[in-house]
Amino acid sequence: MERLDFVLPDFTRISWVSEEARSQWEHRFTRLIQVWQTAEWQSVKTGMRGCCTLVLSPTQFIEQASLWIEQGLVSLPLEMQAVAQYANAQALLQVAGDTPFLLRVAVGYPAAIQALQRAINQQDEAEISRLVGYPYCCYQAFHHYCAEQGFIDMTWHSALASHHQPDSESQLIKLSSCIETNLFWQSLGLRLIPHNPCRYDCPASIEMGKQFILLLQQLGFTEELSWLQEIFDFPVAWSALHGIAEIKTPLLKISTTTDATPTKYIVHYQGQTYPLAGGQGLTFPYRLARQPVLSQSPSFKRGLAHRLERR
Ligand SMILES: [Zn+2]
Repeated sequence: MERLDFVLPDFTRISWVSEEARSQWEHRFTRLIQVWQTAEWQSVKTGMRGCCTLVLSPTQFIEQASLWIEQGLVSLPLEMQAVAQYANAQALLQVAGDTPFLLRVAVGYPAAIQALQRAINQQDEAEISRLVGYPYCCYQAFHHYCAEQGFIDMTWHSALASHHQPDSESQLIKLSSCIETNLFWQSLGLRLIPHNPCRYDCPASIEMGKQFILLLQQLGFTEELSWLQEIFDFPVAWSALHGIAEIKTPLLKISTTTDATPTKYIVHYQGQTYPLAGGQGLTFPYRLARQPVLSQSPSFKRGLAHRLERR
């Protein structure tokens, strides 16, 4: 991936395809961000991993800290982040309320939090990744691209490493849908794994996503899980040019910061589901108005019967 030598300041802008799409889905997104925050620390409680990190408003932190203590978990505030600096600030704000800053907090059992503090002091990136449960292959990919080469966005690298159909355009990758590792909605706070996968078909990440699906079911978030599974099977077109990533989904378009490249890089996530309120268009990921399903139309059936007779 060829790069230019600048990085734009962090920003995320969202534009809905229609008021209809917004009124049907926005409240679900807000709910899903809350549900994911609960799943993050519940995964620690059930022993899936040593600890987790959460980004919360000061009010949320105070509310949740007493909940964690009751469960035997402790929290370690790691840093303050300006709201504007945080990528999913717009979506988070609806959850977090009006606050000038957010806190990044680690949550876990005391021994794990002590180990995390030691690893942070020693700047031991591999140990930090292990404690928060990231698969080793994914940590290695992150270290290679982000720590060593200074990339800020793993999307293109993960897509290139995934199994994909070859395309005549070398800077277009078509990916099959994989609900567990779908991170194309992550700037809104929607995800099923807490890390960037080394590739979108990384077995360890898919396994982790499946564990989170199970956890959401056990926690009783059945309806929320069904929304998430539906959203993650929508087609998405991701592209990067001059430091801006455009993520087009049937419901909304996200513009956000990415690595600055002189040419356009494109990833098509080939989801199979399309929402009723989805935008219409001729180019991927959009579709035209609902068309009758060909295999059920009377003329198709007549044609089929005719062919069968001739055989
Ligand atoms: Zn991996």
